[in-house]
Amino acid sequence: MTSFRHKKSVPRILCDANIEDTAHWLRAAGYDVYVSFVNLSDEQLLKMALKENRVLLIRKQDTVSMSNSNETVIILDSEFLFDQIKQIGQHLAIDWLYKPLSRCMICNTQLQKLNINMWLDLPAEIHDNTETSHACPSCKRIYWAGEQIDKMVGQLQLFKDSQHQH
Ligand SMILES: [Zn+2]
Repeated sequence: MTSFRHKKSVPRILCDANIEDTAHWLRAAGYDVYVSFVNLSDEQLLKMALKENRVLLIRKQDTVSMSNSNETVIILDSEFLFDQIKQIGQHLAIDWLYKPLSRCMICNTQLQKLNINMWLDLPAEIHDNTETSHACPSCKRIYWAGEQIDKMVGQLQLFKDSQHQH
């Protein structure tokens, strides 16, 4: 298989609306991913990708005019997350543990460290033991320290491991 390494070491990505799940995981890994929610034509998507220097990800069944992956577009053969993850890794130098918890999975905004003590008036003994989490200043989603973040990073680790299986 031919590999198209993007010129930039850290790829920026544009996802067609039908692969939002995959977009969320790319953001979880720390990548800048824009998802197009309006129904854009192939031409409009390509134009946006070139203008913003993003690599377009689109499923084979969602494009009428594009059939081959190149430096600007990756045509995904499968509708399943794990297959898409593998295929993206064949074309782009994605490190699934690049910068976990740096970007909101939902809206792509840079996350801020959250100290829950700023929000709640906790008793001193609990206060001192409260773990810090992350929050999105835009959509207000909170990424809780502990099990929730462990699960997320565990999933990213699985993606990373799957790239090294042949
Ligand atoms: Zn957000």
